Amino acid sequence: MSRDVINKRVNELKPSGIRRFFELIIGREDVISLGVGEPDFSVPWRIREEMIYSLEKGITSYTSNYGLPELREAIAEYYKKFGVESSHENVFITTGVSEGIDLALRAVINPGDKILIPEPVYVSYKPLAHIAGAEVITIPTNPEFRITYEDIVRFRNENIKAIMVNYPNNPTGVSLKKKEVEEIADAVNELDCLIISDEIYAELSYNFRHFSIAGLNGMFERCIVLNGFSKGFAMTGMRIGYAIAPEEILNAMVKIHQYSMLCAPVTAQIGALEALKNGDDELERMRSEYMRRRNFFVRRLREFFDVVMPDGAFYAFPKVSSTGLNGEEFAERLLLEKNVAVVPGDAFGECGKNYVRCAYAVSMEKLKTAAERMEEFVNSI
Ligand code: PLP
Repeated sequence: MSRDVINKRVNELKPSGIRRFFELIIGREDVISLGVGEPDFSVPWRIREEMIYSLEKGITSYTSNYGLPELREAIAEYYKKFGVESSHENVFITTGVSEGIDLALRAVINPGDKILIPEPVYVSYKPLAHIAGAEVITIPTNPEFRITYEDIVRFRNENIKAIMVNYPNNPTGVSLKKKEVEEIADAVNELDCLIISDEIYAELSYNFRHFSIAGLNGMFERCIVLNGFSKGFAMTGMRIGYAIAPEEILNAMVKIHQYSMLCAPVTAQIGALEALKNGDDELERMRSEYMRRRNFFVRRLREFFDVVMPDGAFYAFPKVSSTGLNGEEFAERLLLEKNVAVVPGDAFGECGKNYVRCAYAVSMEKLKTAAERMEEFVNSI
């Protein structure tokens, strides 16, 4: 065909830095992978059992576009623990937070609208914002991976449409205390913009309880909160998440969702409801195991690297440039010479180029061996 086949904005996208790297290790059993951000636990048995039972009963149909009413109710109730008062009318069920990110952007962005994204950042934000037609402005965070009021308000004359944040953060593990969340809220108010807050690791907070920006006075009207069951409840393959937002925005998101997705998988919705009703013990068991691993692994890495102590999620983001290598060189050589896979930090934005991301969602045994191999590698350079 003579004319362009592929959409211009899609054509401009680069492949995900994570995927490209992981092509290298497919099928290699000798490699310890700290690469993929995925729990090493299965979906807790109670939740699986409830899903199996629903299948046995033949519950396999579409649900409302918004999702099961009782699940929407349960989420509105559950989110009070993160400080947010809402009703089921502010909640709808998505096919993972991934879909929620895409819908939030497509629902509010007009071509050319400016969106602020602090870096390092989860890999899907910039590509999806780009496809939605946004002009992306990235804000490099400080060496502690935090953003401040000043970092944001300097854009007050730029007509910013939205800011996208993620705490606890992938890839740094950093999270914000209530006081810092209040600072961000002040800045967002000053910019008079929306905030898309991806809180997928909220349950995996170790140093303090997660606090949602949507819970602050007057902020709900500006917020699209995204969360899901992939991480805390180890339900990645079930593809289930949700959005909490003011009705006008929520209904705009559902308008797209009803045509592009119709509804989230019913079996996963039933599992999610069980997770909220009876999943607390399992959640706590997994959370404390991640915390144990974090305490060990970060302490161990600190013997030879600078590492910011993660507040949550299951990632450590050590700075590797003391070795004379950048993140990409380090990751490539570590894989070839020591069979340990980590992700080069520039996959999460330019300012991550001297870092690597290590996911500690693997057994203690593997973490111990991986840390030993990393130390040997650093000493061999
Ligand atoms: N947001 C962040 C920050 C993530 O780290 C991930 C997965 O790694 C997602 C969203 C995607 O989550 P889901 O499985 O719910 O689509």
